[in-house]
Amino acid sequence: MKHRIVVLGAGYAGAFAAGNLARRLSPADTEITVVNAVPEFVERMRLHQLAIGQAVPFRPLADVFAGTGVRLRVARVTGIDPGRRTVSVSGEEGDDELTYDTLLYALGSSVADHGVPGVAEHAFDVTGRSSALRLREHLAGLGEDGTVLVVGEGLTGIETATEFAESRPDLSVALAARGEPGDWLSPKARLHLHQAFDRLGITVHEHTRIEAVEPTRAIAADGTSIPADATVWAAGFAVHPIAAAAGLEVTETGRIVVDPTMRSVSHPDVYAAGDSAYAIGENGRPLPMSCASAGFTNMQATAAIIARLTGGEAPVTGLKYYGNHISLGRRDAIFQMVDGDARSKRWYLGGRTAARLKSGVLKGAGWGIAHPTFGMPKRRRRLGTAAERAGVRAAA
Ligand SMILES: Cc1cc2nc3c(=O)[nH]c(=O)nc-3n(C[C@H](O)[C@H](O)[C@H](O)COP(=O)(O)OP(=O)(O)OC[C@H]3O[C@@H](n4cnc5c(N)ncnc54)[C@H](O)[C@@H]3O)c2cc1C
Repeated sequence: MKHRIVVLGAGYAGAFAAGNLARRLSPADTEITVVNAVPEFVERMRLHQLAIGQAVPFRPLADVFAGTGVRLRVARVTGIDPGRRTVSVSGEEGDDELTYDTLLYALGSSVADHGVPGVAEHAFDVTGRSSALRLREHLAGLGEDGTVLVVGEGLTGIETATEFAESRPDLSVALAARGEPGDWLSPKARLHLHQAFDRLGITVHEHTRIEAVEPTRAIAADGTSIPADATVWAAGFAVHPIAAAAGLEVTETGRIVVDPTMRSVSHPDVYAAGDSAYAIGENGRPLPMSCASAGFTNMQATAAIIARLTGGEAPVTGLKYYGNHISLGRRDAIFQMVDGDARSKRWYLGGRTAARLKSGVLKGAGWGIAHPTFGMPKRRRRLGTAAERAGVRAAA
């Protein structure tokens, strides 16, 4: 019987991992299935662009995996039973159960409302395609006096506010920040950011904690009312509760605790990658939720899975966190490198060159997903014997 690998999620981590596994393991004794809620690869890093009305293409996953041997199952994962090694899914084909020998969990993340009243009912977000499309429709209906408040001074909040202000100068765009936006950047990069806010006419409300969202305004902790025809909640990401419900060891925030090979510390048949994985970087700190982290963790996970299945030693590569690349609309960006302690270095790259570089990064990430088996070798690796695999497992 073939070894069944099931990959949950076909985002930046899962889609690439599924292709990489197919590229390196022989289909003669391995069966790879990827489960994704929607039939397309969603470039999450462009969802704020989608929301403001720009054209963002979505690649059909059927095309991405055509000819690779990867089976695509378009369905929503509703639960995992690690004891029986099954995944429950629900989709157009009805409810079903998939059995795995090895599971790679890469379901990503969604918006975190932090329990703030009114967010679920009245706020918009750009963390998923359907929510970004809902916002797009709403913004398209706003006229010249329209007001938009972006809540959250993280990377998504900054990218969203600047993109909206650049694309729709007719709207009044504001940003509510609990602290000071960009306070972690080097002094020159911080100045660059604030000059961009000024140039784009963005009102920044610093030290403002939003405590309630209503249909046409948001209310801060000090009682200030900020008018907003659209409040865009960008105050953090939350992972899906599926891993925690399955009894996997997770952090307080629900991310799967993994060892340096990305294997679940509680369930050795389960690996995690991307936003769902609580992976510790080379600097001893958890990797931030980012596309770069999704890349590092999925490559580490696939290398470990392949090594363990073929009777080799699971390699461990240091997971690095180099810095952040923040778009400020289409014509400006900040690329801020960090040191080993995750502190910003003095040097940063800004302006059009940084924007062009970021555009190249986005295109490169999309291309990598569209060609998941690029360079596929003619001979792929067969699985090790059961005894070899057991030996590796015992040693691992
Ligand atoms: C607007 C925006 C801009 C961003 N910009 C940047 C940036 O510039 N740089 C950067 O590094 N990071 C950026 N990020 C963060 C980055 O997008 C994420 O860290 C990255 O997508 C994580 O990859 P992932 O594979 O873990 O999750 P995802 O890419 O979210 O993929 C998860 C996949 O799982 C599927 N899925 C989820 N739940 C289920 C379910 N129950 N059943 C079946 N399928 C399911 C989803 O459909 C999706 O395909 C941005 C995020 C946003 C929202």
